[in-house]
Amino acid sequence: MPLPYPPGARLAARPQRVEPCPTCGDPVGRGYPACLTCAERVDELWLADWVALRGDTDERELAATVLAAPAGTHPWTCADWAMRLIACPVCRAELGTGAGCVHCAKTDQSRWAWDHGAPATAMTGNEHTLRLAVAALRGAGEQRANVTGFWRLALPFLLVGAVPTPVQTSRIRVHLIAGRVDELGEADGFAAMAALAELPWRSE
Ligand SMILES: [Zn+2]
Ligand SMILES: [Zn+2]
Repeated sequence: MPLPYPPGARLAARPQRVEPCPTCGDPVGRGYPACLTCAERVDELWLADWVALRGDTDERELAATVLAAPAGTHPWTCADWAMRLIACPVCRAELGTGAGCVHCAKTDQSRWAWDHGAPATAMTGNEHTLRLAVAALRGAGEQRANVTGFWRLALPFLLVGAVPTPVQTSRIRVHLIAGRVDELGEADGFAAMAALAELPWRSE
């Protein structure tokens, strides 16, 4: 019997537009997860699914059940939330986020089976990218400053439903490597970030 692949992050409403965060002053989401307001606004997409699944069940038991189930049984958001509730038995960090921990790396890898196995209607490109951003910003995967820097810039726009094209992504990464974080941070979307003018010393 095929697994249901119930979609995730569709219960809570997305913000209509990118607005400054009342707590950190950056566009909402850019302070994730250190800014509590940014974290709350992003995490509510995950939490809504988790609360709906939980009902009266004990949270720890449910987390263990969700993680033991094959990918596609529960919404991907619930698999992510379950990982947050369980400490890694090896390094004690939030499961999937321990730097250099092989058990964390394996658990983080296995969650992406959901994205690869899901039918097209179960997950949009935006939802997949949003999941990648949040996992990376919580510490999953290889932590390189340019990678987390990219996701921090991207998250406010992902929240409102935008997705960067592959060309925009690589342009933005080039600007990041060139150290143009402040200019990127002022841009009002992926297109504007990708379209930063060439640096003067490159333009002749
Ligand atoms: Zn904030
Ligand atoms: Zn670990």
